[in-house]
Amino acid sequence: MTSEKIFMDDSYITELEAEVASCVQKDEYYEVILDKTIFYPHMSGGQPKDEGTISGIKVINVLERGDEIVHLLKEPVEGTVKLSVDFGTRFDYMQQHTGQHILSYALAKLFGGNTVGFHLSESYTTIDLDILLTDEMVVAAEQLSNRIIYENKKVTAREYAYEDALKLNLSKMPVELDHLRIISIENYDDNACGGTHVNYTGEIGIIKVTKKEKYKSGTRVEFLCGRRALDDYIVKNKSLLDLSALLTCRADMLQENIEKILNENKKLTKDISTLGSELNEYKARELTSNAVVKDGVSFVFNKSDNDVKDLRSICSKLIETDNYAAVLVSESDNTCNLVMGQSKNLSLDMKNIFEQCKAVINGKGGGNNYLLQCTGDLLRADECLELARNTLL
Ligand SMILES: [Zn+2]
Repeated sequence: MTSEKIFMDDSYITELEAEVASCVQKDEYYEVILDKTIFYPHMSGGQPKDEGTISGIKVINVLERGDEIVHLLKEPVEGTVKLSVDFGTRFDYMQQHTGQHILSYALAKLFGGNTVGFHLSESYTTIDLDILLTDEMVVAAEQLSNRIIYENKKVTAREYAYEDALKLNLSKMPVELDHLRIISIENYDDNACGGTHVNYTGEIGIIKVTKKEKYKSGTRVEFLCGRRALDDYIVKNKSLLDLSALLTCRADMLQENIEKILNENKKLTKDISTLGSELNEYKARELTSNAVVKDGVSFVFNKSDNDVKDLRSICSKLIETDNYAAVLVSESDNTCNLVMGQSKNLSLDMKNIFEQCKAVINGKGGGNNYLLQCTGDLLRADECLELARNTLL
C-alpha cells in the first residue's frame, strides 16, 4: 500500500496517530508499514532518516521501498499507533537542507555553477559543483546566501504537473515524473525536491562554508547551517582565545606570531645542527689523543652515551685523516649502537670484524668497508669493544 508522507505537507508535525497496515518480522526486526507517516526515510534525496519512536518503541531505521515507507522496529505493533519524531534532529536537517537550496542557488546565480551532488550527514553537509571556486567566490556566495536568510523569505512546497514545472525556470532539470514537488524560495529559487525544509529562510540562522576542495573536475563545498554553525563558532573561538592566551597576543596577530615562531624554530634547529657538528669535531679531536698506534695506524676505541647519529659523525671526522681506524660504541635504555670505520688509505678487513661485533649485540645495519653502523638490542658494548680491540691490535 502507499504510505501517505505527512512530512511532505508539513515538516513541523512531530506527533501523529496512524494505522498499522502490516507488521512483518524479518530477521531481528519488524518491518512496519503504516497508512501514513511523519518519518523521513534514510538518505532519500541525500537526507538522513528521522529519529523517534512508534508507540514508545525506538525506530531503528526508515526505508523507502517503492511507494511504501518501511519502519524497522525491535518489537511488533498493531492497530492504532502513536508516532513521535525527534524535532531537534528533524529541525537540524531542515536547516541544513534549506541552506543547501540557498547556497546552490547563490553559486548558480553568481557563477553559473551547477550542483551535481549533495550529501547531508549527521555532522556536516557537502555540495559538489561542476565549476572551480576561488576563496573570493565562496565568500560572495556566502554573503548572498546569508542575505536571503536575513530577508526571511517564505519557503513553500507545491505539487506541479511535469510540463508546468518546466515553465518555472528550475535551477536543476528534474527527473521526468507525472507530478513534481517544487520547493520555492520566494523571489529566488524553484527546485524539485522531496526533502524537509523550514517555512521561512530566517529559521536557518546562518550559512557558513567551512571548507572547499577540488573534487573531480569541480569543487566540493562543505558548509554548516544554524546550530551546527554556532557550535562550530564556539569551538573555533575558544581555540583562538586559547592560542591568543598561549602566545599572549590578539587573535588577529596569531598568524604573524606563529610564522615568527616557526622561522625562529627553523633557525634554532639549524644552529643546533651546526653546534652539534662542532661538538662532534671537538670530541673526535679529543679521542685522537687516546689513540693506540700500531704499525703506523692510530686505533680509537671508545664507549660513550652518544646516539648512533653522533657516533657516525664523530667516526667520519676521525677517518678524514689518513691512517685512522675507529670502533665507537654506546648504550642507552635498551639499545646498543656500534659504528666502525677506517681512513680511505687503509684496507683493514673492517667488514669482517663488524659482522662479528654486530652478532654480539644482535645488531641490525651495515655499510661499506670504510664506514659501518648498526643498532642492537643486547647491551654488550664493552664485549663488542674488547672483541674489536683483540682482533685489530
Ligand atoms: Zn530540498
